[in-house]
Amino acid sequence: MTDIGKYTKELKRLISGANHILLICHINPDGDAAGAMLAIRRWIISKGKTAEMISPNSLQKFLMWMRDADKILDFHHNIEAGSALIREADLIIMVDFNSPSRLGKAEEIVLSSKAFKVMIDHHPDPGKIADLVISDTGRSSTSELVYALVNEMEEGEFSDHDFIEAVYVGIITDTGNFEHGLYSGDTMRTVGHLLDKGVDKEKILNHIFSNFSADRMRLKGYALHSRTVVHQDLHTAYIWLTKEDLESFNHVKGDTEGFANLLLAINGVVLSILFVERSGFVKMSLRSKGSFNANVLSRKCFNGGGHRNAAGGEMKGTIQDVLRHFEKVLPTFKPELDAAALDMAR
Ligand code: 5GP
Ligand code: MN
Repeated sequence: MTDIGKYTKELKRLISGANHILLICHINPDGDAAGAMLAIRRWIISKGKTAEMISPNSLQKFLMWMRDADKILDFHHNIEAGSALIREADLIIMVDFNSPSRLGKAEEIVLSSKAFKVMIDHHPDPGKIADLVISDTGRSSTSELVYALVNEMEEGEFSDHDFIEAVYVGIITDTGNFEHGLYSGDTMRTVGHLLDKGVDKEKILNHIFSNFSADRMRLKGYALHSRTVVHQDLHTAYIWLTKEDLESFNHVKGDTEGFANLLLAINGVVLSILFVERSGFVKMSLRSKGSFNANVLSRKCFNGGGHRNAAGGEMKGTIQDVLRHFEKVLPTFKPELDAAALDMAR
């Protein structure tokens, strides 16, 4: 794990010296992106300062209960106001991503800003997209990293209730409530502190993981029953959903969250992918087990990226085009898929 002490002095100095602080997360923010951003803002506010928040697009409904989530500006729908905030900022803190393309439509204006830029992230292979890069790929989540950074800057324990909640949201999101992802003894020690401070884990679990519509449950059943392909010989399984499928189940944003993981529960499967058709392109979410590197596959095959065991990407075309491409490329990964499956069967 990275020694964060060397960063916190500078970060603290930057925050206390800035007049217009702007926090920005990645497009399609998950609980970690939102959690990390809201958490760091709580600390900034406790120091008597303010910080604006931007997301490249809107937050999903299931995150809107979080304190001050309604203050996060949706750039996609407020380009003028968002651009003004970016132009005005003298310190921009980017959280939970390390490639500028994750800024969506805000990419160009953020990159051309003269503000001092800080990146706080836990994704592998960080690019030099900021003046100060605080990257710890050993952390479960950016929120866990923010917890450590804030406590170091506080020189004690920052116990703000909403800070604690936001960090907890980020950690359970990126680990699927400790089912997958990269979590360590340090993660659990952080979680221990959060529980000691009285975080309401039942309430948060309910908001994050038990908050779905009946239509969404039916869509999940349909996906598993009628849209699942299993290549047992390649240790791979995937779900594919067309635009029409989504429409027929009255899909709302976030309904397919978690589907990418489902097929990893099949015996022998080490790679699970969810393909969802949008207008003119397909979004994919990849999950893998053990040594199989979903990040590499996503980069090579779908122009995407992410972590070893959780990655994503996007590709132009219809779902049929994308699946044809994928089916052609997949066998070239057979040696890596076999190796990961063998390793998991130990
Ligand atoms: P998810 O499948 O939950 O959307 O994303 C899983 C992981 O892959 C996350 O860490 C996310 O940041 C990354 N990811 C998702 N979509 C993309 C993408 O289009 N490009 C890149 N570079 N990373 C992505
Ligand atoms: Mn994250």
